[in-house]
Amino acid sequence: MILPSLLPLAFFSLVTATLVPNTELSASNSGLMEQRMYPYGTYINHCDVPGTVALTFDDGPYIYTEELLDLLDAYGAKATFFMNGHNLETNHRLLQRIVNEGHQLASHTWGHPNLPVLSRDQIIQQMTLLESAFESIVGVVPTYMRPPYLSVSDYVLGVMADLGYHVIGASVDTKDYENDHPDLIGRSVEKFNLELDQGGTIILAHDIHEQTVHTLTHIMLDEIVQRGLQRKSLFCLFVPVSTSGGFAN
Ligand SMILES: [Zn+2]
Repeated sequence: MILPSLLPLAFFSLVTATLVPNTELSASNSGLMEQRMYPYGTYINHCDVPGTVALTFDDGPYIYTEELLDLLDAYGAKATFFMNGHNLETNHRLLQRIVNEGHQLASHTWGHPNLPVLSRDQIIQQMTLLESAFESIVGVVPTYMRPPYLSVSDYVLGVMADLGYHVIGASVDTKDYENDHPDLIGRSVEKFNLELDQGGTIILAHDIHEQTVHTLTHIMLDEIVQRGLQRKSLFCLFVPVSTSGGFAN
């Protein structure tokens, strides 16, 4: 088993999203929709842009990430990669490919800890270590993060606000890490379809699992195409592009 301490099994605390815009503008030139701006430190688990879903992959990079990029490319899909600090040094070319191909690099903390039990200084260290690594490898500092185990507290959200991070949850949780076997991955497919039916839009999977890349993501992409949804990174949110935020989509 790979990095067992990093697997999201031990603690799960999903906080209900509070989508409170701090400003609402009449949108875009089309005038068809409102544009929202989220304050940093707000927990977000739904897309705003109608007809879009966000594909997000946690815990990489790993040996399946390259194949996942090929797959996304074949479907013309963009995704957000919430990465940890392990494996970065040996994957410079892969990180550059992610950025070059218009995907979004984002933070999943350096070492995948349960953030609510850490001190403020420890939380800041978890974020700044990864920022420094990203900046030195690809010149990008992320402004989006997903807390490991989706575990947050008001205190953690406050630190993320201070650090200038959008905090991202999920509304389609495939639980692929429980089903990484050809005989089991169908359970994640069922969960994906069910939660998509229920209006989920931010999809959580992990590119460190073979069946996620070899099976689940193919099926998810086919289903998303069939439903006529756009396959996005977190650009499914009405948040302005940050020049330093790694947005390329
Ligand atoms: Zn994780």
